[in-house]
Amino acid sequence: MFMKERTAPHLLAALPRLMHRLPKSHECWEDIAQDHYKVRAGFGGEQYVDAILKRLRIPHVAVADLQLAERFCQIDTVVLTPAFALILEVKNFSGTLLFNETSFHMEQETRDGTRLGFNSPATQVWNAKEELALIVDRLGVKLPIHTAIVLPYSSTLVERAPKDIPLVYGNALNHFISRLPQTGRLMPFSEMEAIGQLLINHHSPFLKTDYSKTYFYETKDLKKGVLCGSCGSPCRRMSQRTFICNSCQAKVVDGYERALDDWFEFATPGISGEQLQAYLGLKDKHAVGYLMRKMGFVRIEGSRVYQRVE
Ligand SMILES: [Zn+2]
Repeated sequence: MFMKERTAPHLLAALPRLMHRLPKSHECWEDIAQDHYKVRAGFGGEQYVDAILKRLRIPHVAVADLQLAERFCQIDTVVLTPAFALILEVKNFSGTLLFNETSFHMEQETRDGTRLGFNSPATQVWNAKEELALIVDRLGVKLPIHTAIVLPYSSTLVERAPKDIPLVYGNALNHFISRLPQTGRLMPFSEMEAIGQLLINHHSPFLKTDYSKTYFYETKDLKKGVLCGSCGSPCRRMSQRTFICNSCQAKVVDGYERALDDWFEFATPGISGEQLQAYLGLKDKHAVGYLMRKMGFVRIEGSRVYQRVE
């Protein structure tokens, strides 16, 4: 039973919006596209593993996507059973993974022979175990904590697997869990739930991404106006709220709101009247004032910058 289900990562929807806002010729466009691919693959792998865990026969509770604030520690999944806790780090990579335990590094060799480097998930799992141990200790509970790196699909090959952390393929995960020692004091279900709830209470949502710093672009690089949500082309206004894509004819409702969402997420947290007029192609400052009032924006005192009222 999942006490906290996995939700789609924010980047899954945000990165395609940023890809629409930047010209395809921009230096960072390919990086964003690649990151989007990785986020999608990662989430797909995690969902696949969740579905496997839901078939686990031994009593358990599971918590997905934990961000423990103290040390920016991120945990994909925690499974609590009567005898132990198990931390799972899901890695959905294609090609071959090579682990280096001396430098705590992992390399992925893709099918076309490209080699990419990553921090070792073994280190990530080790940090997660330390963090979880602290929380469980505070409860005064003695609970063995196991860890594993899960490769959802058996098409991922591994060379030099890490020695101290088991690497398990998705289809063998429940078998692996059923073979972990079930000794010591067994927790009643209510206690498993209490620990699960405590972990959820320690969860703090992910920090906001600073896109322009991550991908190296400037506000002036962003395309202006209302863009189509499906193909990213400019749209023309049909009525107060409705816009139509010039290219694929898709209808965009609340086009100005969507365009402003993009501005606040990918450009700056505020917008001046002049910037807004240029960004949305508004006729004059009266049109700016009208739109801002209608959308419930306020001017920061003593400045010309509008901000959203949270
Ligand atoms: Zn379109």
